[in-house]
Amino acid sequence: MTDTPKPVREIRINPIVPAESVLVATARGMRPKKAEAPAPRDTRAHVENCPFCRGNEHMTPPQIALYPATGDWNIRIVENLYPVLGDDQPQSAFSYGLQQTIDGYGRHEVIVDHDHHGITLHDMSVEHIAMLFGVYRDRMEQLYKSDSRIRYVLAFKNFGPAAGGSIPHTHSQIIAMPVVPENVQVELENSRSFHDKNHHCIFCALIDEALTFEATIYDRASGEVRRKVNVGQFVIERGTHFIAIKPFASRYEWEVHILPLKHEADFLRTTPEMLADFARIMRRTMQRLDAVVGGVQYNYFLHSLPHGDNFARCEPSYHWHLEICPRTSIPTGFELGSGLYVNTISPEDAAARLRAVTLE
Ligand SMILES: [Zn+2]
Ligand SMILES: [Zn+2]
Ligand SMILES: [Zn+2]
Repeated sequence: MTDTPKPVREIRINPIVPAESVLVATARGMRPKKAEAPAPRDTRAHVENCPFCRGNEHMTPPQIALYPATGDWNIRIVENLYPVLGDDQPQSAFSYGLQQTIDGYGRHEVIVDHDHHGITLHDMSVEHIAMLFGVYRDRMEQLYKSDSRIRYVLAFKNFGPAAGGSIPHTHSQIIAMPVVPENVQVELENSRSFHDKNHHCIFCALIDEALTFEATIYDRASGEVRRKVNVGQFVIERGTHFIAIKPFASRYEWEVHILPLKHEADFLRTTPEMLADFARIMRRTMQRLDAVVGGVQYNYFLHSLPHGDNFARCEPSYHWHLEICPRTSIPTGFELGSGLYVNTISPEDAAARLRAVTLE
């Protein structure tokens, strides 16, 4: 185990999205309000009146696909009962002056991740997780191909009430949007300008740094050694094709990102062999998070190269990734008002605690 870490109070600049910088403040008293203690999780395998349980298929909105296509399904895609975007809306006519609108056109689908009602991601088999991310990949591809008005397809999961999950049966969602989300746009632009200057990908550079970097941090005033940054300090898991990293400027205490080790901008090019390695890294990461946080509630979302006209030029500079954001605190007025996230556990301490978990 690690020694009691020295308190840290510093603003860490997110190198890809500088506007999303983080105040790492580990001293007590800076603590943001903790999220409510989670209600005991529903671990039942089957629930009579749950629309997502096997046998209740008639209770959901229209079905889009089943995996496998015949026999007992393992994963099911259906339309969202309350879509945030849809193709049935009339064109918006309500624009005036500076108040302009974009039509709320798109698709909003639900993926029933597993036929087992209360299963957690880390209790699913590696094969099942690989299948789930394969379903995301296939459906994202179909949606991009289906309509040229779709500019971005976002796959994400909200697990637990603290993460906005409103239905207890494990599920994730896909939203096909008429715009590229602002945060993806900023990642694309900033990684491209880094590439213009340095001729390599900033995500690849961050992976290299996580794997090989070593530095001694001195106190500015006294000149004393404050702490050492060690090789691999931020690496949570490393597989053949993927790495799980604790970002240096993590917005959330237990935030972890998973990225392909070899440069790749587009998640849709992930091969079955790569998906198997990804699933193993994902499962081990979720096991670690669950062990440290205890009944982890989280959001995850995929950031990948948007399809369409002018994005091919971002191929050399963009690098797809999955961001996993466990939700252990509620944003405060300071965070909302300043845009500066407060993280009360230093990412190096969080990484050490995640790495210390013994996995079976
Ligand atoms: Zn269910
Ligand atoms: Zn890269
Ligand atoms: Zn991202």
